[in-house]
Amino acid sequence: MNIASLLHGTARCFPDAPALSFGDVLVHRYRGLQERAVRLAGGLRALPGIAAGDRIAFAMKNAPEYVELMWAAWHAGLCIVPMNAKLHPKEFAYILQNCGVKVCFATPDLTEALAEELRSADVSARLIDSESAEYRTLASHAPIEMQPALPEQPAWLFYTSGTTGRPKGATLTHRSLLAMTLRYYADVDAVGTSDSMIHAAPLSHASGLYSLPHIAKGSHQVIPASQGFDPDELFALIDRYDNATFFTAPTMITRMVNHPGIRNARVERIRTVFYGGAPMYLENLKSALAAFGPRLWQGYGQGETPNTITYVSKALHADTGHPRYEQRLASVGVARTGVEVRIVDDEGRDLPVGEIGEIICRSDVTMIGYWNNPEATAKSLRDGWLWTGDMGTFDEDGFLTLKDRSKDVIISGGSNIYPREVEEVLLQHPDVLEVSVVGRHHPDWGEEVIAFVVPKPGRTVRDDALDALCLENIARFKRPKQYLYIDELPKNSYGKVLKTELRTRLTSA
Ligand code: AMP
Repeated sequence: MNIASLLHGTARCFPDAPALSFGDVLVHRYRGLQERAVRLAGGLRALPGIAAGDRIAFAMKNAPEYVELMWAAWHAGLCIVPMNAKLHPKEFAYILQNCGVKVCFATPDLTEALAEELRSADVSARLIDSESAEYRTLASHAPIEMQPALPEQPAWLFYTSGTTGRPKGATLTHRSLLAMTLRYYADVDAVGTSDSMIHAAPLSHASGLYSLPHIAKGSHQVIPASQGFDPDELFALIDRYDNATFFTAPTMITRMVNHPGIRNARVERIRTVFYGGAPMYLENLKSALAAFGPRLWQGYGQGETPNTITYVSKALHADTGHPRYEQRLASVGVARTGVEVRIVDDEGRDLPVGEIGEIICRSDVTMIGYWNNPEATAKSLRDGWLWTGDMGTFDEDGFLTLKDRSKDVIISGGSNIYPREVEEVLLQHPDVLEVSVVGRHHPDWGEEVIAFVVPKPGRTVRDDALDALCLENIARFKRPKQYLYIDELPKNSYGKVLKTELRTRLTSA
């Protein structure tokens, strides 16, 4: 089944339901969105050299055209390659070359730099400004029939965030996207025309993926006029649009919770706040729960098994009376419906409850491989199981607690130290805003623990106070040997802390 049939179904059942807004302005109802998509599909297929199965890429900030293009591309039998708008032009060029993109759409803020890069790197992709007359001409083309798509046909290349090297294109098929859509109703919410989804996080990532289950049931998609994340604006949109759901990276939630606007925000109007993609520390989660109430839903996943492998439901967040409530909050929850999850040793043997090993998973949602990268595919996909590179442990009830990525584990004097555990403790200090713990080479111990600490604005934090917290809460050998105070942690465009860069700072210091 072509995933584009989801929009067709909605346009048929709910033609007059609002489909897409930009800030306060309604751009399309479902009848209009569908008409736009099928015309645009015609325009795409009329572009010279474009054939079924080709990839089209988006170097775009969140915009109504993004949503139009996603559905038009699928209708036209094409595969989309959404790229994070914050990437460097060189990174865009790398991705375009890596998957042989013939046409790339860009928002006006990005076209010039990208055009220059494509020229100098000799990349032949055609660049189209999504607000240009050329785009409008494509969108007024004669409609075409929906192209057939086999379940295993690539529909979305999800480029990994590249924290460990060059980004790789996780190939998600029409089957993956359909399975992802259906699982939403099993594990998150039933959706209808009285819902809305606000895209304050990049459409190229989780927010865009979760627009599918919403569009399939006629929910109103809202692109903030700022095209990004602005807490004041998001609070205003929550006020305006009913039953809003939105995705946040943990840093976004923390910013909202610490923003003065939270005091008057009508959080009771929110349906669901997703968070995930990076660790949510227990202290921050507790503040978020106090601010948002039982509307939080956590997912742990990867672009390779999108939105997500495990989850902590809203009900679990509200189950304060459970004897292991805190432990569950600090976990990444249980397996999503239809996803098998195991913890294994290096040989792929199952480990008992409580032991730490690599998380592997298998499901219809999981990618079929990395685009044009058989070596990386063979390493990650073995007998149908995806090796995530994340370390974790199960408790007796099947709750998964994430440790760290295998490459981030610190080995000091032969003992494994999971940075996350030390970070959780340091964050209990009231004047610490953010923290990241990494290993530094040590001639005797192999590695030693170093903590980068960002104090809250205007506050100072002392080593002895942090030491005392560690001594109270964790084994002595896990205590950082040095605290380095900095103004900001280096992060990639999805807000993930770049531990590699912190380690480089240590070696070049
Ligand atoms: P990406 O494919 O860019 O979404 O990155 C996936 C990686 O982000 C995972 O392999 C984890 O290391 C990390 N991650 C995702 N979700 C969570 C979560 N809920 N808690 C902690 N780390 C997470």
